[in-house]
Amino acid sequence: MAVLKNFRLETELVLRIILEFDQKPSLKSFTLKNPYRVVLDITKVQGVGKKEVPVKKYKIKEVRLAQYKPDVLRLVIEGEEELLYEVRVNGGQVILEVWAKLLAGKKIVLDPGHGGKDPGAVGAGGIAEKEVTLKLALAGKALIEKLGGEVVLTRDKDVFIPLPQRVKIANNSGARAFISVHLNAATDHTARGIETYFKAGREDSESLAAKVQKQLINEFGFKDRGLKTATFYVIKNVRLPGVLAEIGFITNPEEIKIVNSSDGLSRFARALAKALL
Ligand SMILES: [Zn+2]
Repeated sequence: MAVLKNFRLETELVLRIILEFDQKPSLKSFTLKNPYRVVLDITKVQGVGKKEVPVKKYKIKEVRLAQYKPDVLRLVIEGEEELLYEVRVNGGQVILEVWAKLLAGKKIVLDPGHGGKDPGAVGAGGIAEKEVTLKLALAGKALIEKLGGEVVLTRDKDVFIPLPQRVKIANNSGARAFISVHLNAATDHTARGIETYFKAGREDSESLAAKVQKQLINEFGFKDRGLKTATFYVIKNVRLPGVLAEIGFITNPEEIKIVNSSDGLSRFARALAKALL
């Protein structure tokens, strides 16, 4: 018999429930309708009492954990609509992730800055901006698609794409937003923070920039350098609402370490997804 040692949940677009047992438990997962529920039965587990946690977020209503039979623990996630889920087992740790198609019908263009013969800025430890912008954009695409949205990339590998071609991809995409991803650089290695640019006079771009900037600051906790106007080629020429975000300074060793970590990529992806909700 396994014993439940810990139960916790996180809601960050995806509801993540983490159960820790003293040994690897046996599991069975399935879904039920009316109302929609994801059910995880964990067998050969000792009694735990009953826990009900209202979640009321991201189309999820409630999480219930209770002893279903003397040796079966049942975890139920009730949704407002159909939910997708994934179960992972790691020794005694069980992670159930549940999410709704929160971004269904939303299509955006992500533009990883630089590429190929154009490395962009080069930062602490010799890392090139083009590598980091591509990793960020790919992470953003993965999360947005998981949540039911669509992403067009102006490049998906280390290749040089001229700016007019990036604009053409964006204008032909049928998407509702264009986000160009860059990192800032300065000779002063203590320069830090996040800023987002839009073209002056474009109110649609300004409101997109405000959402993107707000979520980036929330996720990274970096200095807020605010919204700025500029006439960078891509944001000047895209017909859809377009912004250019500088995700910290590649020349600041502390910031680039965070942005270029797997946690940093996740933070960026969440910020983008939340900006599009
Ligand atoms: Zn750049």
